Amino acid sequence: MSKLKLVELTDRGIRTRIKVGDITLGEDFVVIAGPCGVESEKQTLETAEAVKAGGGMMFRGGAFKPRTSPYDFQGLGLEGLRILEKAKLNTGLPIVTEVIDPRDVSWVCEFADILQIGARNMQNYSLLKEVGKAERPVLLKRGMYSTLKEWLNCAEYILAEGNLNVILCERGIRTFETYTRNTLDLSMIPAIKELTHLPIVIDPSHGTGKLSLIEKMSLAAVAAGADGLLLEVHVNPCEAKSDADQQLNPGQFAALMQKILKLNHFMQDKAFKSSITGGDIQ
Ligand code: PEP
Ligand code: MN
Repeated sequence: MSKLKLVELTDRGIRTRIKVGDITLGEDFVVIAGPCGVESEKQTLETAEAVKAGGGMMFRGGAFKPRTSPYDFQGLGLEGLRILEKAKLNTGLPIVTEVIDPRDVSWVCEFADILQIGARNMQNYSLLKEVGKAERPVLLKRGMYSTLKEWLNCAEYILAEGNLNVILCERGIRTFETYTRNTLDLSMIPAIKELTHLPIVIDPSHGTGKLSLIEKMSLAAVAAGADGLLLEVHVNPCEAKSDADQQLNPGQFAALMQKILKLNHFMQDKAFKSSITGGDIQ
């Protein structure tokens, strides 16, 4: 396989830091939260307030939804992006949103602080090249059938176009297991830290598809050294037009945030860190 020239961690050990608003990804632990889809102004603005109140640092919602069935909710498109703009205005939270078509990248950048590439588009090379030319950081989800090397090669496509601000997102892969929606591969956290300088966030919502498993997997991701989490939150999950089973309600999100922040604080404590690992959790 060709060399990963740009994503590889060099001997100098310098890791990528990405500044978005007040947050430096790769340095500050980040929780990106919001509904699977932007469904209406009310649902989105209320969810954004809940994310802010619960302690979320960025707001994420899909205006373009790449759905398995063409008959399922596809997102509100431009109208959805305008709603996200209002959510940012109201809460001050940076916006993370998915782009699914290379032709949309330049104008979606006007609304997005971070562009998300979804699992289904991880190997959409024309899309990767286009976001590689954009002046926005890119959150690159792992494809559901992809190996780590394939995923890193996709990140390499983006960096090769000049955009060095890539955040990797593990969201689970397809295995023979059916109890969970996907198999959340937390071994990617140390593996990514070993191979690349890029930050990694974990998405336990899509990674498990089950509300009852999200808390434990979020905390496990923090303990394993993730740079952040991506969590689906909906003001009224039972009415969600997509991913209803995995979205936290505002109360559940706020309670989970407390635990995440507490554990992260503990993990950052130098004395604690070196007492269990010799300081090698990054
Ligand atoms: C999403 O983030 O809502 C989504 C569709 O996720 P994925 O691309 O990981 O399936
Ligand atoms: Mn979703």
